[in-house]
Amino acid sequence: ADNFFLDFEKICVLGHGNYGTVYKVRHKRTSEIYALKIIRDIDCDSESQSTSPPSQETKILGFIDSPFIIKCHRIFEQLLPSSGGSIAILMEYMDGGTLDTRRSFSESSLAHIAYQVLKGLEYLHACNIVHLDIKPSNLLVDRDLSVKIADFGVSKILSYVHGSDNYCDSGDVGTYAYMSPERLDRDSCRYDPKYVYAGDVWSLGVTLLELFVGHFPFFPPEKKSISWMDLVMVTCLGEPPASWCIPEAASEDLVSFIKCCLEKDPSKRWTASQLLKHPYVLSRSRSD
Ligand code: ADP
Ligand code: MG
Repeated sequence: ADNFFLDFEKICVLGHGNYGTVYKVRHKRTSEIYALKIIRDIDCDSESQSTSPPSQETKILGFIDSPFIIKCHRIFEQLLPSSGGSIAILMEYMDGGTLDTRRSFSESSLAHIAYQVLKGLEYLHACNIVHLDIKPSNLLVDRDLSVKIADFGVSKILSYVHGSDNYCDSGDVGTYAYMSPERLDRDSCRYDPKYVYAGDVWSLGVTLLELFVGHFPFFPPEKKSISWMDLVMVTCLGEPPASWCIPEAASEDLVSFIKCCLEKDPSKRWTASQLLKHPYVLSRSRSD
């Protein structure tokens, strides 16, 4: 691709992840600031390429268009002959970084966040895209608390043909801590691919609760390492989390909202569109 590296200068590293690094960059001519995600070592094996995570990420970012999802300006494939299969994704820069889980948000800020992520999820699910890794570090914010969904590194486009069983398997990807019971333990929680989108709603419920209490909500803040088994115990085998892990200070609307997200049975869990009509979101989130 043209003189890509000559047009931009790196300012700093914004984050590291599974497939590469995200930099803050400045476009030299316009001085515009962007985020640039560089994904290295793409598996060039032709068979796996169309479904390998990086190519799914660029495919998805290439066509989605929503104010609630990070905007991708350009995708550069095979930047330098020496870097083999590198891909670079030029995105809008979010100056607030990721949602900060060390502070606790007020109920009205939280409803504002919930509204925006639900709008993003409603849009994605309507496009047959399942994100599969909703969590605070994949939700980016700017100074005015505009929230956008980012990181489609493990997301999938479902090729569901009506009437057939051609669902894409959500697989064992994402982050255990935010994973729904049916994805964490398929044996005891009857996994039905029909409800794959419900997994994103669960993850949002855990995320919002974390932002409300200021730490990962299923365990005391002192607990530093959380295993898969710990999570199976609390999400799959125990009472529904909403019945024991929401602080008493929460309003009735918030408690009810979280219960609808953290419903253990994915067929009964509310969808993103349904949650947008929940009183907690309707009455407290003013912006549109
Ligand atoms: P990974 O798949 O490596 O987790 P992400 O897309 O989640 O990649 O990016 C990793 C980190 O980089 C994020 O958690 C965030 O801190 C930072 N980051 C990513 N994109 C942006 C952006 N557009 N603006 C600001 N920071 C970003
Ligand atoms: Mg990430």
